[in-house]
Amino acid sequence: TDIEELLLSRIRDVADYPEPGVMFKDITPLLADPAAFTALTDTLAQIAERTGATKVVGLEARGFILGAPVAVRAGLGFIPVRKAGKLPGATLSQAYDLEYGSAEIEVHAEDLTAGDRVLVIDDVLATGGTAEASIQLIRRASAEVAGLAVLMELGFLGGRARLAPALDGAPLEAL
Ligand code: 5GP
Repeated sequence: TDIEELLLSRIRDVADYPEPGVMFKDITPLLADPAAFTALTDTLAQIAERTGATKVVGLEARGFILGAPVAVRAGLGFIPVRKAGKLPGATLSQAYDLEYGSAEIEVHAEDLTAGDRVLVIDDVLATGGTAEASIQLIRRASAEVAGLAVLMELGFLGGRARLAPALDGAPLEAL
């Protein structure tokens, strides 16, 4: 579609970042273009409405940039999922494996409760490890997952297949 072409045209490929052999998808040109950023926000807000989401979770850090305006546009609350050690209140945390070592993400326990339907938003789905851990956090908070929406999916990394059990039928939308 026209929107897909506009979004794709505003993503910059950066070779060998953050390490040799990686082609990084840089979304900052898209953020700097008000037409593209607005189109992205509106499209994600439509997904929030279509999936019946009651809250938006954004994944640190680019998921904050995309998720916050979507939450405002859709009239929903925004909940940050942060890297460990950044949230001041009582948290739930979830560890997950990286290629080398592991990482941990957290959410304020009081921000999610039974009855919430959560749309998770991030910029890029790569291996799916971050999204999988965030879905586990949401479920542990007794909330439901309305879906996962990302700007871009790196299909060759197999994140969609990895996430299928965690999503348990909830939609994965990659624009
Ligand atoms: P995963 O856990 O799916 O392997 O990695 C996804 C996380 O890493 C996301 O939070 C995403 O922001 C970041 N990420 C991985 N590769 C890229 C990339 O090429 N471009 C951008 N913008 N983010 C990436």
